[in-house]
Amino acid sequence: GGISPSPSEPPSSPCHRFDQDSLERYLGSRLPGFPRQPAGTLAVRQYSSGQSNPTFYLQKGGQAFVLRKKPHGPLLPRAHKVDREYRVQKALFSAGFPVPEPLLYCSDVSIIGTEFYVMQHVQGRIFRDISLPEVGPAERSALYLAMIETLALLHSFDLQSLGLQGYGRGPGYCKRQVSTWKKQYDAAAHTDIPAMNKLAEWLANNLPPDDSEESLIHGDFRIDNIIFHPTQARVLAVLDWELSTTGHPLADLAYTTQFYFWPASIKGLGQGSILGFKNTIETPSFEELVSTYCRCRRISTTLSNFNFFLALSYFKMAGIAQGVYARYLIGNASAENSHEFAKVVKPLAERGLELSKRSSFSSTQHSTSGELFHQSRKGQEILLKVKQFMKQHIYPAEKEIIKYYTECRNSEDRWKKPPLLERLKELAKAEGLWNLFLPDVSGLSQLDYAQIAEETGRCVFAPEVFNCHAPDTGNMEVLHMYGTEEQKKEWLEPLLEGKISSCFCMTEPDVASSDATNMQCTIEREGNSYVINGKKWWSSGAGNPNCKVAIVMGKTKNSSASRYKQHSMIIVPMDTPGLKLIRPLSVFGYMDEIHGGHFEIHFNDVRVPVSNIILGEGRGFEIAQGRLGPGRIHHCMRSLGAAEAALEILCQRAAQRQTFGKKLYQHEVVAHWIAECRLSIEQARLLTLQTARKIDMLGNRRARKEVAMTKVVVPRAVLKVIDCAVQVCGGAGVSQDFPLAFMFAYIRTLRLADGPDEVHLSTIARWELLDQSKKLTAKI
Ligand SMILES: Cc1cc2nc3c(=O)[nH]c(=O)nc-3n(C[C@H](O)[C@H](O)[C@H](O)COP(=O)(O)OP(=O)(O)OC[C@H]3O[C@@H](n4cnc5c(N)ncnc54)[C@H](O)[C@@H]3O)c2cc1C
Repeated sequence: GGISPSPSEPPSSPCHRFDQDSLERYLGSRLPGFPRQPAGTLAVRQYSSGQSNPTFYLQKGGQAFVLRKKPHGPLLPRAHKVDREYRVQKALFSAGFPVPEPLLYCSDVSIIGTEFYVMQHVQGRIFRDISLPEVGPAERSALYLAMIETLALLHSFDLQSLGLQGYGRGPGYCKRQVSTWKKQYDAAAHTDIPAMNKLAEWLANNLPPDDSEESLIHGDFRIDNIIFHPTQARVLAVLDWELSTTGHPLADLAYTTQFYFWPASIKGLGQGSILGFKNTIETPSFEELVSTYCRCRRISTTLSNFNFFLALSYFKMAGIAQGVYARYLIGNASAENSHEFAKVVKPLAERGLELSKRSSFSSTQHSTSGELFHQSRKGQEILLKVKQFMKQHIYPAEKEIIKYYTECRNSEDRWKKPPLLERLKELAKAEGLWNLFLPDVSGLSQLDYAQIAEETGRCVFAPEVFNCHAPDTGNMEVLHMYGTEEQKKEWLEPLLEGKISSCFCMTEPDVASSDATNMQCTIEREGNSYVINGKKWWSSGAGNPNCKVAIVMGKTKNSSASRYKQHSMIIVPMDTPGLKLIRPLSVFGYMDEIHGGHFEIHFNDVRVPVSNIILGEGRGFEIAQGRLGPGRIHHCMRSLGAAEAALEILCQRAAQRQTFGKKLYQHEVVAHWIAECRLSIEQARLLTLQTARKIDMLGNRRARKEVAMTKVVVPRAVLKVIDCAVQVCGGAGVSQDFPLAFMFAYIRTLRLADGPDEVHLSTIARWELLDQSKKLTAKI
């Protein structure tokens, strides 16, 4: 890619020379704003691309334009129609579609020898190699998605409102394409290629029933015909409208995405030409592009007859290759390796035939989430970046980080973070993959973030790398929503920057804490201070030496208020005298150093300034309600990531090992477990996404029933998957050689933490009864 323009040398081929002075005079008199003086200073350079209709870069007095003209000499009747290009660009520009603004059309051949038009010059990036080697995978995805959104926009215009009635040749586009390309191929064929004949016949016999569908189509929609914004993934202009017409929109989509199916045997041929695909593109995937396209056009991702359009595209490519070779035979081809084109016709035709037989191209990978739950553009971009970051940095670090914790288990260092983790955090921060959980900071919806959280949940320490880990996320939410300016400055800012971490102290050893009104710890006012006394336990993260602050819930007695107004939350710096870490608690024997442990903490006459109270006395429950909605969904989403990882392990093991003469997965019971696991994950994910969407649409409070349902369903589903994975792995499954045992221990606690299942079930039942009674009242 490069910054456009990269005009080639001055016009070299004599047939492209024209009278520059005549052009300059003409533009001076006809083109508003074109500088007239000084005469004779118009600079003209020809672009190396755009051979069909020669294209020139014009510059005068600091202004730049682009001129496109017909070639000289006898031309095919319907080709090189620059007046059509001008017309379509004019219509699209007026409709707000990204094209260079067409400024002037000249049919007077006496000026430069042929018809021509002049358009605005657009400054930006053009990528010549479709694998975009100059950008990273995340940017490539973003650019491709921007491209496909632009294509969808093009196809959603109504011809009439564009004023382009009669622009094409009416219904029957596919039929015409098949017969045109067949004629061209027949005229150029040098030898009999049965696959080509079969493909032509198949296409003629399998025309799509909706061949009357007519949209404005580009005809040559490729990433190298697009000018992107110099730094952003934004389309500034789509170029080269020579082949535009009206026809079936899926023909454009198939043409744009055909490289995903390109035969490996002919990669790299004709570099710089449409046949020059060199590298495979993994991100974005075919499915991602297609589901984005379908979503933008609001059409089903099933894409009926897409096999026809891909087959047609390959037929066309094979025809073009044959044409290049035919021109080589008569000594008229420009490319040096033209003779090689004969070799590709057959594999292209064969691939076309193969594709014609494929029955489905639906975007299965994203179908459920793609159709039902629309992720924003930004959400998609960040999700892709996170996926890439996981692949590039997190998974390769897993071994070293686990080893660190294993080796430090009995030393003083056990609570410290491994240096590699700190480095990963810096990297993630530098890439902007930071604080994604907080909508006001990240600009992401809960639905966007839910899907990102799942990705990070595949690795136990990944959420921390992105500064998206509990309990810091919940505490940051509390400070963000309810903190005073000073509280935010002192505690929220360093937390957001990842300079410190925090813990949350609610649960108490001496009372049943699932009923938070039981909490006994006291917060009593004495002059300008509050004094805290009590015992807390299960304060997650308190072992981390970087844990500098606790948010503590306790009783600020007010005998006249209700049960739910007796408690408050207060900020307590960890180094306040009287605060003492008593012991870490184990989780099924694990100390969970990775999450900073879970501590029992005692508070003896711990004194903090009055200004440390959050929101005010008696408002602890109000804060707790606000804190737990999105946080719970994020936990659920992360654990779905763990379930995916466990199912992956299960399937790998089932395919590796053998008992009683069969692979494990060939035993039907194991096959059924695999299926059941997939069912559980999909069901749980759908519910989670649905809840995330409801929070986005209605807010935390009105999504309370859904949050509670998700909080019960997901850990159960995930535990089932991990349990199956343990079973299939046998003894290894419960050992330190596999992550499953720790996963199980950790996920099992989610049925207790943030309120045990039973409490949530009671809530769900209460809401259900309320909803039912509302229905009943409505009927009466
Ligand atoms: C790994 C882990 C991390 C944690 N992190 C934190 C943290 O950072 N900060 C913090 O404050 N707390 C934390 N907790 C504590 C957690 O929130 C509590 O354990 C939970 O709220 C339950 O309270 P409890 O342990 O006192 O159980 P109890 O209240 O004693 O309840 C015990 C059981 O009684 C039953 N029960 C309770 N209510 C009902 C009901 N209405 N109907 C039927 N049965 C019922 C349930 O089966 C429940 O499991 C963590 C816990 C774990 C395991």
